[in-house]
Amino acid sequence: MKKFYIRTFGCQMNVYDSRLVREILLSSGFVEVQNPEDADIVLSNTCSVRQKAEERGVKFLRDMKKLGKITVMLGCVAQQHGGEEVIEGVDLAFGTRSYRLIPHALQSLLNGSLLEERIMARDFGLLELTDAPLKRKATGISEFINIMQGCDNFCSYCIVPYTRGREVSRPAEHIIKEAKNLEKQGVVEITLLGQNVNSYFDGRFQFYELLQFLDRETNFLRIRFTTSHPRDLTYSVLRTIAESKSITDWIHLPLQAGSTKILKMMRRGYTKDEYIEITKNIRKVLPEATITTDIMVGFPGETEADFEETIDVVRTVKFDHAFTFIYSPRPGTAAARLKDDVTPEEKGKRLRVLIEEVNKAAHEKRVQMIGKFYEFLVEGHSRKDSSLSAGRNRGFIKGVILGNYPVGTYLLGKVIDVRGLAPIVKPIKVIDHFELFENATVSV
Ligand code: SF4
Repeated sequence: MKKFYIRTFGCQMNVYDSRLVREILLSSGFVEVQNPEDADIVLSNTCSVRQKAEERGVKFLRDMKKLGKITVMLGCVAQQHGGEEVIEGVDLAFGTRSYRLIPHALQSLLNGSLLEERIMARDFGLLELTDAPLKRKATGISEFINIMQGCDNFCSYCIVPYTRGREVSRPAEHIIKEAKNLEKQGVVEITLLGQNVNSYFDGRFQFYELLQFLDRETNFLRIRFTTSHPRDLTYSVLRTIAESKSITDWIHLPLQAGSTKILKMMRRGYTKDEYIEITKNIRKVLPEATITTDIMVGFPGETEADFEETIDVVRTVKFDHAFTFIYSPRPGTAAARLKDDVTPEEKGKRLRVLIEEVNKAAHEKRVQMIGKFYEFLVEGHSRKDSSLSAGRNRGFIKGVILGNYPVGTYLLGKVIDVRGLAPIVKPIKVIDHFELFENATVSV
């Protein structure tokens, strides 16, 4: 019985894919181990959106190869480069829509019948529709469900359309079956994943209809989704959230840059003013909505004045949280042909200024939460103090629950009422604390 270990580098989509690969291997008789040292086969599922994740994934496999493991590269890096160009000695490489081929290829490699030393399955073909999603075992109270693959947007800096292919939506029935299977196993929260969920269309249902379908057919406490492209977020989706029992009002809406000139170079399809208008519309329909975003600094041609436009949007919109990062060219993208002309020092400086502004805005939002009541879904222990429970409100705001309340598995997956306390601000991160209010009720 051959043992495997799988490690994921990158986004939620990769986490989801790794769970599917795990399911595929388990159902083919392979055994999972928790340490790479104990495995015969080591798989790395690696994202290529950011250079750092790619480097870490490649190094990991290279180290494993030295220990004599069979090494398998999965995900965007495998799709983009194939194993050969990236890492010497990788045994097998599978692109993002070829995972069903893994068990057979591994068996062939193990019994010496694989004609070539390696396989590079990189065809996009159709959406890979195995029944692995329908059978997968839940690993916690909260799970991801992938509703689509690929992206048609071709933003100039982004590698995704080349590594995950053109956009294809999974049939709604398939998604509902997967959701119901997870619900039966005690999952209370699902997050629907897609590069651009708002353009979901399976030939019958649009995204808001899929949301309505899930809200009606399942009893999850919370249904989330990410990521929304600002151009495609519709009024129907916002109305559906407002009228639903379980769909949460957390909208992740990547801004990327505040300057209309840079947005055009990025091929994002909206202007600064349009983006701000969209956030206003969100708050009109969902006054308590949490809006989070992604912002990059140092895109080619970004001047100080362009960067100031980004800061202006941060101050205007007041995001609850932002993932901030420095632009790095990804080979094969349109932006990689532009001169990367913002110096590393300047990029670093802009990133620090941006983080400070994002934190200021987030802090203001947290202060508005003091004394107000929220439903918190307990997701586990506080990382800093394991005697305390930690969770999130409907808007995905994280907090630690203070107070003498039973902790641990008793509260895990439960919804409790909490009252906002003053947040504690650290230099880089905003850390928010909440406490149970006196008559806290456990509602599940
Ligand atoms: S919308 Fe743009 S940034 Fe997002 S995955 Fe598609 S191409 Fe990449």
